Amino acid sequence: MPADVPRLEIQHLIRRFGGRTVVDDVSLRVMAGQVTCLLGPSGCGKSTTLRCIAGVDTPDRGRILVDGNLVCDGTFSVPPEGRSIGLMFQDFALFPHLSVADNVAFGLRGTRKEKRARVRHLLDRVHLADFIDQFPHELSGGEQQRVALARAIAPRPKIMLMDEPFSGLDNRLRDGIRDETLEILKEEGTAVLLVTHEPEEAMRMADEIALMRGGRIVQQGAPYNVYNAPVDKVAAGFFSDINVIPGVVQGALTDTPFGAFLTPGMPDGTGVDIVIRPQHLKIDFDRGGRGPSPTTSDGTAARGVVERARFMGSESLVEFRMDHNGSILKATVPSVFLPKPGTALWLTIRRDRCFVFASVKS
Ligand code: ADP
Ligand code: MG
Repeated sequence: MPADVPRLEIQHLIRRFGGRTVVDDVSLRVMAGQVTCLLGPSGCGKSTTLRCIAGVDTPDRGRILVDGNLVCDGTFSVPPEGRSIGLMFQDFALFPHLSVADNVAFGLRGTRKEKRARVRHLLDRVHLADFIDQFPHELSGGEQQRVALARAIAPRPKIMLMDEPFSGLDNRLRDGIRDETLEILKEEGTAVLLVTHEPEEAMRMADEIALMRGGRIVQQGAPYNVYNAPVDKVAAGFFSDINVIPGVVQGALTDTPFGAFLTPGMPDGTGVDIVIRPQHLKIDFDRGGRGPSPTTSDGTAARGVVERARFMGSESLVEFRMDHNGSILKATVPSVFLPKPGTALWLTIRRDRCFVFASVKS
């Protein structure tokens, strides 16, 4: 198999329910040993996409290929068990009447001895060798999830489809199981398509993120790029709180209380949104809100009065009511700074970290 043939390729997938297009022209490629996260809000069509790939739902149009071989197009469809695809869902439902060993062996072929060896290896790998003869109800949630993982990868699927598989686990357990799961899947060279609505989970796990909205993939790329170069305001806002400073283009510039922003190529009169994440709004603690508006390398400072300051562990979130128009802007700062409500302070915007988008009328 040439190295550049994707393990999984989806081309122009469309799925409609009663005239509503739920999956709208989705194309994706996942290479062996890579993790792609399908990330998007609830209801945007993630699970439907996954079900079509698994073969438990049939797309209206589009093609699905595994290692370059067609498994589904408009007329032809390989049944789920013929696609070499493993599945893991939030409700991973182990068979309650089967032991841990028999759960893991369930989809395996081969001699008893071969099966036993594979089961032992995998239970070792997920640190559950001592639980081999126990039953699911004797295990904790995290242990059951690891059995489910072992069961899903036992037949060595080429592709693993995971639908919010960690959302039922508590926070501290989750991080460990996520990392361990990834490590095992990478070792096995499995291509992983993981569905999640949590940006932190996607950034932690993905080699590539496919950001989905209303049935479409709106942006695709490495987590760093998707976070740092969002395609629009909504994409920026999906990853963190954002501040939006509206303005109007005049002579390739947009003037704001924070100084002028370059908006080249946009005609005069275009409404723009200058979008900035709270961690990139800089607070001038030294000057203490006095004097005339200082000019810095980041443009003019605008003044606001602390409305609320909340300690959040590693950082604090400070909300400012701005002098110029009474709007609220949010800034995060290292937790040692917790300014009192009523304090006036100067704020600047990091020019290299703001995004400028033509505003979309809603
Ligand atoms: P997600 O996994 O992103 O939350 P889903 O793919 O589950 O979203 O659902 C996308 C949309 O498709 C939802 O509005 C859902 O109600 C609708 N939908 C999913 N499956 C069906 C179905 N079998 N019949 C009708 N509508 C469906
Ligand atoms: Mg879903």
